[in-house]
Amino acid sequence: LNYIEIPELNEVFFTAVLRDINARKSFEQRLGWLSSHDDLTKIYNRRFFNEQIAKEWRRTLRSQESLALIMLDIDHFKNYNDAFGHQIGDQCLIKIASCLQESCHRASDIVARYGGEEFVILLPGTNLDGARQIAANIVRSVSALNIPHPNSRTSKKITVSIGIAAMIPTMGCSYERLIHFADHALYAAKQNGRNKFSVHQD
Ligand code: GH3
Ligand code: MG
Ligand code: MG
Repeated sequence: LNYIEIPELNEVFFTAVLRDINARKSFEQRLGWLSSHDDLTKIYNRRFFNEQIAKEWRRTLRSQESLALIMLDIDHFKNYNDAFGHQIGDQCLIKIASCLQESCHRASDIVARYGGEEFVILLPGTNLDGARQIAANIVRSVSALNIPHPNSRTSKKITVSIGIAAMIPTMGCSYERLIHFADHALYAAKQNGRNKFSVHQD
């Protein structure tokens, strides 16, 4: 806002510049959302998951609760894309992501897309038994989605393999270990025939 005095006219004027910043604000909001979410499935992304697991690990180290991690991979998804195309493949990823989100009920549970057709679920304050129940539920819910997959060697519909691990953090041990254990269990589930969960045992 500017004040202008024009002596010749013996008058005072004001000039004002108004700028609509709505577009910039919504752009900033979108950027903020994209930094923590996956644009396709609308769930959290790997970057956000990495921040949260580090935070939960530190918190749980103090509280000495159990921290559980579920890693999930869609079975024969390359064949699914080959049969139906990338766009239908994307729709399948969206359905699986919502199914996972619906399988987790606590506000502290974090469901994220970890990579292409891989998802992770971080379950603070949850032990192996709790995580096992959630994983069993997920296997059933994915089956109930009834997404046809004629090119799968495991089933006639889309299935998932799941690895589960849980730890009570200790000093000198990193959350990388929890990720490694869950990944190992996922590998075992794949090796044991897919469409199932496998639990990491110490
Ligand atoms: P496995 O049962 O051993 O997990 O086999 P797979 O075919 O699921 O695993 P692989 O790693 O060979 O292939 C993963 C496929 O996931 C390959 C890629 O085309 C697909 N994929 C990854 N990201 C996306 C995506 O964003 N959209 C779609 N439609 N497909 C994706
Ligand atoms: Mg994979
Ligand atoms: Mg796969």
